[in-house]
Amino acid sequence: MNYKISQRAASLSPSLTLAIDAKAKAMKAAGEDVVGFGAGEPDFDTPQFIKDAAAKALAAGFTKYTPSSGIPELRQAIADKFKRENGLTYKPSQIIVSCGGKHSCYNVILATCQEGDEVLIPAPYWLSYPEMVKLASARPVILETTDKTEFKITPEQLRAAITPRTRLLILNSPSNPTGSVYTPEETKAIGDICVEKGVLIMSDEIYEHLLYDGATVKSVASFSPAHQEHTIIVHGFAKAWSMTGWRLGFLAAPEPIARAIDAVQSHSTSNPTSFAQKGALAAITAPLDHLKGWLVEFDKRRRFAHQKLSSIPGLSCVNAKGAFYLFPNISKTGLKSTDFCAKLLEAEKVAAVPGIAFGADDYFRLSYATSMANLEKGLERIERFCRTLAK
Ligand SMILES: *Cc1c(COP(=O)(O)O)cnc(C)c1O
Repeated sequence: MNYKISQRAASLSPSLTLAIDAKAKAMKAAGEDVVGFGAGEPDFDTPQFIKDAAAKALAAGFTKYTPSSGIPELRQAIADKFKRENGLTYKPSQIIVSCGGKHSCYNVILATCQEGDEVLIPAPYWLSYPEMVKLASARPVILETTDKTEFKITPEQLRAAITPRTRLLILNSPSNPTGSVYTPEETKAIGDICVEKGVLIMSDEIYEHLLYDGATVKSVASFSPAHQEHTIIVHGFAKAWSMTGWRLGFLAAPEPIARAIDAVQSHSTSNPTSFAQKGALAAITAPLDHLKGWLVEFDKRRRFAHQKLSSIPGLSCVNAKGAFYLFPNISKTGLKSTDFCAKLLEAEKVAAVPGIAFGADDYFRLSYATSMANLEKGLERIERFCRTLAK
């Protein structure tokens, strides 16, 4: 049998972060003493009140189809969140709840991009963006950045990259994989250009609440009605509520785009899981009290890991202001990222994700969503590894 794979599917690279995580977990299961820095998820449990709300809905028989874009009270509560936290007015019809923030991103790209369109993606990027663009038959155009600009694009760089075919810019601040954060002024400058040039922005704000060192963010949609009309905000429950396995994301879009996404979703996944939505409703209507402790813990680890990484010969590392990742530069080790991470796993049983997965081959991603004990142990091993390279 000749299993002919469609060009669309064959053009994709499978998710390297999920692959590394799976490999580290398998080594661990086989009894090896692996330290995993690959995780793209918080190591805290979902807060109990959220689990209780979902369990209660499940017990009460809330187990049937819901409207495909989410239950009305959740869409309303999400609209209220944008009003309360971002000063943005959306009707519930502009809010779509999907099966994870990743699904929200995919819906946006599928509903707005097609063959012939160019999508601007600053690198280092979240590894799914270019693949999603390819799935929509559009062309990813990568805007390179380095640690010298804290991995942020400049207005000049954006302006130079825009062509008549440019359809969409993907912004992700705070960023996965670098943890870098655009200031409100920087965000506005980028938004201004997109408004002027008629380019849409997909603003992935899933790490909105994970900020350190007094950093602040302002959604690109919030600078003027024109900015809002050019922006689709993607968000989700995975990170700030530690609900990665629940598969719940959401987006806020101009009405015609929301309608198109509703149609796409109604013919693909239909609604996100009914009782999970009840948990999400409890999450988004409650104050973010649970986050305070998490942020103290993340911040402590971030400082420790940054300091340690900065002291290791061959490595340098700009400190992150958001999310839960650091993105150290390995160019002085003489190794490219795939080699570096493969040898690190082999020699020291430390799992980290090669930067090439995010379009940046001179770096690797370290997630500090793991215990302080793991960080201490793993960073010692990374230091030992780098010292052997330096010899
Ligand atoms: C984690 C993440 C998401 C969403 O993840 P889901 O688990 O699908 O909700 C979206 N964007 C970025 C940049 C992320 O890191």
